Amino acid sequence: MLKSLQRLTVLFALSAFTLLSFPICAQLNDIGYLPKGQNYNPDIPLPTEVLGYPVGTWHVRHDQLVNYMKLLAQKSDRVSVIETGATHEQRPLLLLTITSASNHQNVDQIKAKHINNIATGNSAVSTDPLILYMGYSVHGNEPSGSNASMLVAYHLAASNSPEVETLLNENIVLLDPSLNPDGLARFAQWANMHKGKNLVTDSMHREHEEHWPSGRTNHYWFDLNRDWLLLTHPESKARIKQFHAWRPHVLTDFHEMGTDSTYFFQPGVPSRKNPLTPSQNVTLTGALAKFHAKALDADKQLYFTEESYDDFYYGKGSTYPDAHGSLGILFEQASSRGHAQESINGVLTFPRSIQNQVTTSLSTFDGAMANKAPILAYQKQFYRDTQKLIKDDDISGYLVAQGKDASRFERMIDILQSHQIELQLVTKDKEVGGVSYKANKAIFIPLAQTQYRLIQSLFSERKRFADNTFYDVSNWNIGLAFNLPYSATKSSVSRKLSLVEWQSRVAVENNLIKDEYAYVFEWHDHQAPALLQRLLEKGVQVRAAGADFKAQTTKGEIDFSKGAIVIPAAIKQPEDLLSLVSNYAKQYNISVHTITSGLTSKGIDLGSRKFVKVDKPEVLMIGGVGTSSYEVGEIWHYLDTRLGVPATLLDLSDLKSRSLERYTHIIFASGRYSNVKESVVKKITDWVHKGGVLIGQKSAVSWFAENEWIDNKLVSKDALKAAFPINGLSYGDKSALAAKKLVAGAVYKSKIDLSHPLFFGFERETLPLFKTNNMVLEVTENPFEDIAKYTDEPLMAGYSADEMQELIRNTTAIVATKRQKGVVIGFVDNVHFRGYWDGTNKLTANALYLSSLL
Ligand SMILES: [Zn+2]
Repeated sequence: MLKSLQRLTVLFALSAFTLLSFPICAQLNDIGYLPKGQNYNPDIPLPTEVLGYPVGTWHVRHDQLVNYMKLLAQKSDRVSVIETGATHEQRPLLLLTITSASNHQNVDQIKAKHINNIATGNSAVSTDPLILYMGYSVHGNEPSGSNASMLVAYHLAASNSPEVETLLNENIVLLDPSLNPDGLARFAQWANMHKGKNLVTDSMHREHEEHWPSGRTNHYWFDLNRDWLLLTHPESKARIKQFHAWRPHVLTDFHEMGTDSTYFFQPGVPSRKNPLTPSQNVTLTGALAKFHAKALDADKQLYFTEESYDDFYYGKGSTYPDAHGSLGILFEQASSRGHAQESINGVLTFPRSIQNQVTTSLSTFDGAMANKAPILAYQKQFYRDTQKLIKDDDISGYLVAQGKDASRFERMIDILQSHQIELQLVTKDKEVGGVSYKANKAIFIPLAQTQYRLIQSLFSERKRFADNTFYDVSNWNIGLAFNLPYSATKSSVSRKLSLVEWQSRVAVENNLIKDEYAYVFEWHDHQAPALLQRLLEKGVQVRAAGADFKAQTTKGEIDFSKGAIVIPAAIKQPEDLLSLVSNYAKQYNISVHTITSGLTSKGIDLGSRKFVKVDKPEVLMIGGVGTSSYEVGEIWHYLDTRLGVPATLLDLSDLKSRSLERYTHIIFASGRYSNVKESVVKKITDWVHKGGVLIGQKSAVSWFAENEWIDNKLVSKDALKAAFPINGLSYGDKSALAAKKLVAGAVYKSKIDLSHPLFFGFERETLPLFKTNNMVLEVTENPFEDIAKYTDEPLMAGYSADEMQELIRNTTAIVATKRQKGVVIGFVDNVHFRGYWDGTNKLTANALYLSSLL
């Protein structure tokens, strides 16, 4: 019957679908969402007064949300609000503190005492407040949370009921109404611009089918609900500061899921909890769940628990708190994705989805208050258990070495410190397990600190798990992500280390000499490509070294490695060359040297043919429908924020009608390319033959292979099937088999050819790659093309079935092939994973700037 009703009108829907008890034309009003029998303070404005309509009539715009929350803070002595930061698009990130007026007078002391208890393991007393952090709609196109947050804030600010007064007299509510303002803004615009006077509930309607990219993600199309640990984005950086300033007892994370679903609240799948999270966390989550169940029962709503969602990856909003003795709680509401949409349960309206989020927000308060004593006790027990784990651990800490890339090393340290992880600088050389940790170029991270569990998760090399199905990645080892040598050390070793407090690097002083023979800088540093890009934009002429050399400089003879960038005075340069080089080198903290002669004592001379010209790249990224917005976003984020390259983004569907002539490089992320027209394939082939550099990753590489742009063949789907025999399996084994065939996020070891220009600036022969797919690329006959191969025993960390490892071992990980004057480069894995995998993201810079060495 649903199928025949293509365009339901509001009136018709009233009589036909009221299954979810929220008819789509019901007369809305803000109070209707809130518990009955409240005595509301008339001086506190309802959301309607700012919006101009009741909540749920339209999707709230972020600016309206901000205005309402600021107005509440103005009108209510229970509410204060701060801007904790700003998004990429400069929207303010808000945090409301809601508690009694008298608690507001002492809020700094209350906070300080609570933080001190956490740091020292002191007992909280029964009169100490619970800190309840309410976070909403980290996914922008799951907007019921943010829309509900106005009603929850109003209720707390205005209600004089005994329940609310007790809640606020005895506890502190923190409320973040929009964890992802840029995504919320994008989605609100989409939903509102398609809304007519008559709501269209047909799921085919454009309102319910966002185009590319969706509002789920932030400005650079990253999933902020994976970024709590990685801290790639300003939203997460601002939030994590508040998390540590407050260390809430409970943190909620309100989401939406598929339209045909019901409602979910944690506990999640019991066997898929992170083993570093105490089981008491699940017990207490279950105690709160009883209150959600009771509240939803009263409203006759369907729901489920302990299925689908898990708490393994610590980078999510409902899981990060679990590593800190807090209770992170995930809520998932079926999405109307618009104002009203047909579902298997009848028409699901936007107000209905908002209602459920209001209901479970309030049941969170009820549940937390009823379980106050065990929740307060749990934070202390968590501290004690952590001390025991530290004592029982054979390992006393981790040494991490810097190598020649100080910027990458410091970025990793910045992430660790943002998580309140203490670390120290090593001041005397030390050799551990064949790795040499040099004085002032290595750190030690002691395990004897309150962040023990988070540190252990950040250096985990676990490969075997109780349950092999993962909702997200199975590993996020920071040492592997940043490709830095590290060692777990026993106390017998760490006791003898010479350590001082870590201090950031001082600014490099270059003191360059004017009008000398040439300037030069090494390529190892992560900021070197950004420095090069700035110089190229200013018309500076540079040459990249194809081989090592030892040059005479104003500071004596110095060795330089392959990939070093030379700026010779012999070629016409901008008049202000010296100040350009000096200023940019200072900005990026890069050592630049003055060379006094073209004759070198070792290696190539400065006029050698092995120095090649580097031109400013003109980059085209292919995006749009059919490509992965996550991966395109990651590439865009790297080019834009790390290199400062203004890349053109073109939709895949527009490729056929556009000229490629002006571009030097084209980048393809994962996508569905099998339907790309023959004429487009020919256009790209011709462009490569004329000298273009074609770069692709993951499924783009399989398309490259299909088009014979690379010589490698894909291992067929049949071979993959054959590796996982199904004889004798029962129907119940089906989903476990599917999970085995996936690589949901594990680290694989590759061996790279350091003599290849794509790896200039890299220091170690092995390179950890983050694998999120099961594509296998056969090696070719030609060793000069298969420039990185997975090793014989490739799995370094995370889950991957033995059969998958067997298929992948010794196959090609990275390929680079000459095609006439052009080059084709393929990465089997995502080299920009979540803006976190810094060990491999510079491969893109090498492909942009050093491809002329091929
Ligand atoms: Zn979500």
